[in-house]
Amino acid sequence: MSESQSPDSTSKSLFGTDHNPTNIVPEKLSLDSKLKFRCHPKVSCFTACCGNIEIILTPYDILRIRKVLNLPAQEFLLRFTTPTYLEKTDMPGVKIHLDENGRCPFVTDEGCIIYAQRPTTCRYYPVGMSYFHGAGQENTKAEEFYFLVNENHCKGHQEDHVQTIREWRTDQGIDESDEMNKDWMELVMRRKSFGQQATLSEPAQKMFFMVSTDLDQFRNFVFNSSFLDTYEIDEQTLSNIKEDDIALIKFSYKYLASSLFGTNDLKIKAEKIKKKAEEIKAGQKGAEERAKETFEALRRDRDLLKAQIEQQDKKKK
Ligand code: SF4
Ligand code: SF4
Repeated sequence: MSESQSPDSTSKSLFGTDHNPTNIVPEKLSLDSKLKFRCHPKVSCFTACCGNIEIILTPYDILRIRKVLNLPAQEFLLRFTTPTYLEKTDMPGVKIHLDENGRCPFVTDEGCIIYAQRPTTCRYYPVGMSYFHGAGQENTKAEEFYFLVNENHCKGHQEDHVQTIREWRTDQGIDESDEMNKDWMELVMRRKSFGQQATLSEPAQKMFFMVSTDLDQFRNFVFNSSFLDTYEIDEQTLSNIKEDDIALIKFSYKYLASSLFGTNDLKIKAEKIKKKAEEIKAGQKGAEERAKETFEALRRDRDLLKAQIEQQDKKKK
């Protein structure tokens, strides 16, 4: 959002819907809409916006920030994040852990110390992006649109600089972030569109959290569990995800889509499917046998009762 080394502010949520509604300009914007705004180190509100905020981190945000800080995933998560739920879903994620004064741990008087790797949310401000999924269209691509957040403390709106949302996105490096985030955001949006109809099981939530926040652990899971016995993964993909974090992050989205929503992004091995089918069949067979046993027991009880009644009748005669 801002020029050169100045810090930028943040929106209040990844998808923009947690903004105070009174600060949202009620106008649906497109890529060609004009934005009058500029943030730079000389604004009187410089760094005022990097506190009392909620910055949810995408898997790509986490990767970029921890790389520049040179920290393994676990250490970064422990030191700089707090667990949260991704808005209006039961999908767990993380947000930046603010300090005791409610300030972002990465802000200094000179600005943001991770500016080049700042989170997607920070890049967007004061623009918000939202998605729309029509009812019954959960499996289609969501429509995206933009809106403007105009908060009193933010003086960037008084600057004379005008550009389109499209230019703004390029200037802020949003295109690259969105490209890396889009499949993950689609997962969250898809889950959100299901509403309360179904809840993710605890193991599924744990898996989603691990895969979305800790690539080190996900890589370990892929290469050191029964994962490769279950899924058909070609040699080239395996070699890519072994070393390359970007390849691994893209692969992780496919894994989540296929394990949470049953998509065909990853193929389960034929023998695994056969084994599962046999287990189900065996389960059904067991259920049939149990039903037969119950029926026989009921019939025995009935015959016993019938015999007792006949005996009593005989005695009466
Ligand atoms: S990450 Fe940087 S830009 Fe974002 S809130 Fe923190 S200091 Fe501000
Ligand atoms: S409040 Fe607005 S103008 Fe001021 S530093 Fe933050 S984004 Fe820039």
